Amino acid sequence: MTYQKKNKVVIVGAGKVGEAVAYTLILSRSASEVVLIDVNRERAEGSALDINHGIAFYKQITIRMGEYSDCADAGIIIIAAGMPRKPGQTRLELAKTNVSIARQITKSIMRYAENPIIIVISNPVDILTYVVQKESGLPRNRVIGTGTLLDTARFRYLISEKCGVDVRDVNAYILGEHGDSQVPIWSMVMIAGIPLQDFCKTNKLDLMSSLKEIGESVKHAGATVISLKGATYYGIALNTSRVVDIILENDNTVLPVCHVVEEEVYGVSDVAFSLPCVINTHGIVRMLELSISEEETQALRRSAQILKDFIDNVLYA
Ligand code: NAD
Repeated sequence: MTYQKKNKVVIVGAGKVGEAVAYTLILSRSASEVVLIDVNRERAEGSALDINHGIAFYKQITIRMGEYSDCADAGIIIIAAGMPRKPGQTRLELAKTNVSIARQITKSIMRYAENPIIIVISNPVDILTYVVQKESGLPRNRVIGTGTLLDTARFRYLISEKCGVDVRDVNAYILGEHGDSQVPIWSMVMIAGIPLQDFCKTNKLDLMSSLKEIGESVKHAGATVISLKGATYYGIALNTSRVVDIILENDNTVLPVCHVVEEEVYGVSDVAFSLPCVINTHGIVRMLELSISEEETQALRRSAQILKDFIDNVLYA
C-alpha cells in the first residue's frame, strides 16, 4: 500500500481551467504538491514551468508535469480535461465524446490511486460525475462534481451587487443541473440572516420584481463571459480551490455540489445533481434537507429527471 500524501493534488487536463486551478491552489497555499497531467504534454509542462517562475518569492510548493502513476499517493485528483464543442456538434454528441474521455481518464487514475477524492469539473459535469463514480467504484461521497457551485457564486455575486452588501453576507443557492434546468432557490435567500423579502422592504429595494431576470442572468453568465473573452476559467478555478481547501482543512463547509444520489431524492434516484452538502476531509459527509417552496421542489424534480433522461441517452441509447 502506498502512503497517501493528503496535500498532493493531481490535475488531469492542463488547459485553461486546469491551469487556472493549479494557479489558485498555489495562491491558497494549502496544497504542498500539484501535478499536471495532459495528453498535450507540452501544455502541462509549460503551465507548470510558468507557475514555477513565480514561486521563488512565494512559498516552496512543488508544481510539475506528471504521469498517472502520480495518482498513487495523491489525496485529491481533479478532472478538468475535455474537448470543446466542434461546429455543428450537438450537446449530446459532445457529451458522448467527453464521457469516453472521462472513462478513459478514470481507468488510468484508478490503475494507481487508492481511495482518493476525485473532483470533476469537465462538462457536462453532472453526467461526468456520474460516469466517474461508476467507473472508479469509489464511494459516492468521494466523487464530487463542482455542479452548481459556479452558478451559486454567480447568483450570490449578482444579489450582493443589487443589495449593496458584501457577497459573503449573501446566503443563496442554485441547485439541480449545472445547465439550463438549474433552480434558483429564492425562498432560502438570506442577507445577513434576514430573508430577502424583508431585507428589500426595510431597505426600500425594488428587487422582488426582477427575480426571474436575475435567475436568467445567472443561467447565461457563462455564455456572457465566453462571448466577451472566449472561455471561463478563473471563477471555476477559485471555486474548485475552495473545495480543495475545505477537504484539506476538514472544514465541514456546506456547498452546493453534485454527487451520485442513490436513494430517491426529488423523485429520482441513481443520478448526480447539486444539493447543499457538508464537505470535509472524507468528502461529502451529508446532504442537507431543504425547506423550499412547492414550486422550487417541482423545479428540482424536473431538473433531476432531465439529468436522468440525459444519462440514459448518453450512456445507454
Ligand atoms: P481546454 O480546451 O482549454 O483544455 C482542455 C484540456 O484537456 C486540453 O489541454 C486537452 O489537451 C486536455 N485533454 C483532452 N483530452 C484529454 C485526455 N484524454 N487526457 C488528458 N487531458 C486531456 O478547455 P478548458 O477551458 O480548460 O475546459 C475544460 C473543461 O472544463 C471543459 O469540459 C469545460 O466545459 C469545463 N468547464 C467546467 C466548468 C464548470 O463550472 N463545471 C466551468 C468552466 C469550464
